[in-house]
Amino acid sequence: MNEHTWLTEKNFEYSNFEQYRTILCRGGWGAWCGYVEIPPGHPWASREQGDFPVDVHGGITWDEKYLPEPVAYACSIIGISPSKPGSRWIGFDCSHPGDFLPFSDGTLGRTGKYMTLEQARHSIKLLANEVYKSGRAMCARCRVKPVDETLGVPGCRDCANEVLREEFESQPAPRAKQESAENPEG
Ligand SMILES: [Zn+2]
Repeated sequence: MNEHTWLTEKNFEYSNFEQYRTILCRGGWGAWCGYVEIPPGHPWASREQGDFPVDVHGGITWDEKYLPEPVAYACSIIGISPSKPGSRWIGFDCSHPGDFLPFSDGTLGRTGKYMTLEQARHSIKLLANEVYKSGRAMCARCRVKPVDETLGVPGCRDCANEVLREEFESQPAPRAKQESAENPEG
């Protein structure tokens, strides 16, 4: 049963999941819509339109370089930049068959179950976690090879070796272990 939960819920929520920006915003029929920003360079930034390996309520129903106008407007009111150059926003909504629509004109969505803010939060976290996992799995430097987490240096094996070599070459003179800093030499 619906318990008129929406009467006591807010209408907008902005948060960060790891480094990813997420937004929950009530849509025109009062049902929750959720958005996650995919930054440039993320492996998903170049995926086909709508082609994301995620299982979220009703599937991905938003995939654009921008947010819907009312959501972007809400962002601007509270001082959040609604989009960054090269970003892509993917999102879902809770106004599918079987979903209750609180602000319906009466023709649709009067039966069904209301997806609460709490449930929408759960869904947006699941989606953001998929974005996070996919982003983490790729090397941040070359963006094409998988991260090798055994190296102790961020990146794939090739990039990690390159970073270590660059660090080594950028040092003016061979340096002993850090512990020896307490024993001044020469
Ligand atoms: Zn790499």
